[in-house]
Amino acid sequence: MTVVQILLLAVPGVFMSTEKTIGQTRLLLSKGDITQVECEAIANAANSRLAGGGGVDGAIHRAGGPEIMAECKKIGHCPTGEAVITTAGRLRAQKVIHTVGPIYKGRPEDARLLTNCYTNSLELAAKHNLKTVAFPSISTGVYGYPLDQAAPVALKAVKKAVLNHPDSFTEIRFVLFGAESYEAYVRALQIL
Ligand code: ADP
Repeated sequence: MTVVQILLLAVPGVFMSTEKTIGQTRLLLSKGDITQVECEAIANAANSRLAGGGGVDGAIHRAGGPEIMAECKKIGHCPTGEAVITTAGRLRAQKVIHTVGPIYKGRPEDARLLTNCYTNSLELAAKHNLKTVAFPSISTGVYGYPLDQAAPVALKAVKKAVLNHPDSFTEIRFVLFGAESYEAYVRALQIL
């Protein structure tokens, strides 16, 4: 590896690109809090009971208010890898897409289920004509999916969904909480 290559790997965000265009869709990575994002839809890393919880789920319900939970209660349940849609309450987004990531167990099934989360979330967004969508890094918090494995799975799934829906999305953004997540996704984007 050359010195330049080492530098490129060592200083993500400075030298490395944090966005890519796939067809007509901008795929971009940003650091921050997904509750503050202005996309038409934001995805939530929910649990299968749609019961709220910690992490990004808790943050979305706190910021969006009780209307979101009221709709989640009516829906009642969401299997792992599937997605459901509710109001976004007080959030800037129009809709929240709740998807249930796999609890990481180190089996091939994990990547398939994580892929399904992104695919099904984007299917729902396309069906509701939501053209800008923000995702957190699903499953990489309490559910324990290692970031360096989850990031390429997430980006590949989004790329494939975008290619399958060439006219549906103008922007898909990953909103990454903290430098470690951000850097893992930046690395994965370079090889997408
Ligand atoms: P999971 O149960 O799917 O692992 P978590 O909410 O525990 O979900 O974590 C998923 C990811 O969301 C983690 O990388 C965590 O750091 C991140 N996260 C937590 N709060 C926020 C937030 N407000 N905005 C964006 N990402 C967040």
